[in-house]
Amino acid sequence: MSATGTYRAVQVAASGALELTERPLADPGRGQVRLRVEACGICHTDAGAVHPHPATEPGIVPGHEVVGIIDALGEGVTRWSVGERVGVGFLGGHCGQCASCRRGDFVNCQDQDRTGLTIDGGYAEYMVARETGLVAIPAEMTSVAAAPLLCAGITTFNALLKGAPEPGDLVAIQGIGGLGHLALQYADRMGLRVAAIARGTAKEGLSTELGADHYIDSAATDPGDELAKLGGASVIVTTVASGASSSSLIAGLADRGRLVVVGASSEPVTVSTGDLIGRGIAVLGSLTGTPIENERGLAFAHAQGVKALIEERPLADAAAAFDRMLSGEARFRMVLVP
Ligand SMILES: [Zn+2]
Ligand SMILES: [Zn+2]
Repeated sequence: MSATGTYRAVQVAASGALELTERPLADPGRGQVRLRVEACGICHTDAGAVHPHPATEPGIVPGHEVVGIIDALGEGVTRWSVGERVGVGFLGGHCGQCASCRRGDFVNCQDQDRTGLTIDGGYAEYMVARETGLVAIPAEMTSVAAAPLLCAGITTFNALLKGAPEPGDLVAIQGIGGLGHLALQYADRMGLRVAAIARGTAKEGLSTELGADHYIDSAATDPGDELAKLGGASVIVTTVASGASSSSLIAGLADRGRLVVVGASSEPVTVSTGDLIGRGIAVLGSLTGTPIENERGLAFAHAQGVKALIEERPLADAAAAFDRMLSGEARFRMVLVP
């Protein structure tokens, strides 16, 4: 299929602001497909591409929670068909050739595009993606509902799995926002006892509704002490971008507990050698997941009724929607619809 016409996309301008542009439609290259975008979530990681500190060249199209319909196949693509509905997350598709890929570690592929950072993402009517990055979307799930699960969802779902909790274990989720409100639901549906940790009491009611058994106000109490009083958490997933506040949770881990970090921060997480050795605890990070892990996460979410709370906006309102996400006012994920 040859490209004709143009499409609308929201790109990062030289000033760092988001601007709506019109671009010529391009054909997918070898091993790529072209998607007609149906929905794209706005993720905090998009701030790496956008004002005030753009890490990318002007002209990049942000967005890595993309759901669309395949409308053109590049040369050599046999796994996917035109008309199929697929998603693309932050990892834009592995190469299959590098040392990490040959070990089966596709997340750490050394030749992997970062959607919306190193290649154009989904704040657009069309997007071109590598076939190895594609995620099949369950037929019963709407594109808008699926979009935030492709980054925020898989990030927290996989973080919980990496903590390897057992049924009935106490797990804690620090930070009840775009990531945390999903983590609470996954943890509850996995049959775990769930403690939600956030500053203040404003999110207590919602946390309970989403599945939390305990609510810890980190402004009023020491969350590490509170978790210890509950017997200690076998897993703590911290979505807060603060090394210091993550460090304070170490005291709340059960023996052999794991602190799984998904909130990126420039500050270190500090942990004593006594805790590491004497209590056998571990601190680890988790970066989204592979397409097949994403499909497992979507299937789990669909079967168990895990749903992102979403504010939907038209593509033309991307700049305002992005600002709302940055302000922390969004409840909880913004999704753009072309
Ligand atoms: Zn993201
Ligand atoms: Zn690779």
